[in-house]
Amino acid sequence: MRPLTCEIRLDYLRDNYQYLKALHGNKLLAVMKANAYGHGAVQCARALHDAADGFAVAFLEEAVELREAGITKPIVVLEGVFQAADYAAVAEYRLWPVVHCQAQLEGLLAFDWREPATVWLKMDSGMHRTGFFPHNYAAAFAALRQSGKVGEIVKMSHFACADETERGMTQMQLEAFDLACAGLDGAESLANSAAIMAYPEARRDWGRAGLALYGVDPFGAFSGSLKPVMRLKSEVFAERVLQPHEPIGYGASFYTKRSTRVGAVAGGYADGYPRRAASDTPVAIDGVRSRLIGRISMDMLTVDLQQADMGVGSEVELFGDIISVNEVAAAAGTIAYEVLCNVKRAKRVYS
Ligand SMILES: *Cc1c(COP(=O)(O)O)cnc(C)c1O
Repeated sequence: MRPLTCEIRLDYLRDNYQYLKALHGNKLLAVMKANAYGHGAVQCARALHDAADGFAVAFLEEAVELREAGITKPIVVLEGVFQAADYAAVAEYRLWPVVHCQAQLEGLLAFDWREPATVWLKMDSGMHRTGFFPHNYAAAFAALRQSGKVGEIVKMSHFACADETERGMTQMQLEAFDLACAGLDGAESLANSAAIMAYPEARRDWGRAGLALYGVDPFGAFSGSLKPVMRLKSEVFAERVLQPHEPIGYGASFYTKRSTRVGAVAGGYADGYPRRAASDTPVAIDGVRSRLIGRISMDMLTVDLQQADMGVGSEVELFGDIISVNEVAAAAGTIAYEVLCNVKRAKRVYS
């Protein structure tokens, strides 16, 4: 069997949840969108079910998948509905929709709710993708409140730059949010992973943890307190010795400088490993840091067998415990979120 394996350590997921919940205080949503950032939404939600205060997904179909897998805790639908008709499913599956625009608000008010809906009302506090502008927010809040159709309203917003603490953007967004919420009752939710960790004033009634829940430091480092849930590993399945000044792989983009032992590893861009990862991207071979050499192919990649005992059968960690996914992402000019979401075709092993 092909040795590429994506290990998902569910005990680490639970530990990260507890750590982030303690840090945030109050309640914490486990963000499960995009198949739990590539980790498997159903398996991850089940592993967290007893501990979690609730879950968040991007859209309705993701929420329905969790409900049909037996998840009974609150589920926030972060983008809300795309059509007013979808409020029927929101009600049927007892979901908590975000309302970020006037069309969603009107659809919600037109729907015949059997029980009062719980609504997360989104403010655009400065990121400028979605949400009510601060000067329209109180009116939207009042429309929901006065309709008699809504039970709880959770006031929420999302930060553009929470992982860039040297910038003032988060502070500005916090001030805009608090100013526009003055006099509006009810719970609040602001912080994603980076804000939970770096902005105590953003910790409100509900946190929303994604990346850090999966054990990845939002600030690009390897955080001692977070445990990487995903470990992508494979094996060297062929090796050869090349003389100095020999090319390796497609495009002959890499040339050996000295006599080099090259290992071929099962795993390539068709498995989601980023093709843009250049030579020198770190890997760990039998627990020792080494590097990629040559381009990433569809089904394999090539590594530098730097030590005598590295060879066919050696385990290769592409990322996980020794190599952080942040390092791989940086080497490929992208972010850990994208690398995690892209992993596919690898055999998944849950523990
Ligand atoms: C994805 C998402 C989160 C989680 O963000 P992380 O940076 O992964 O913690 C929180 N809130 C909203 C609205 C999101 O879309």
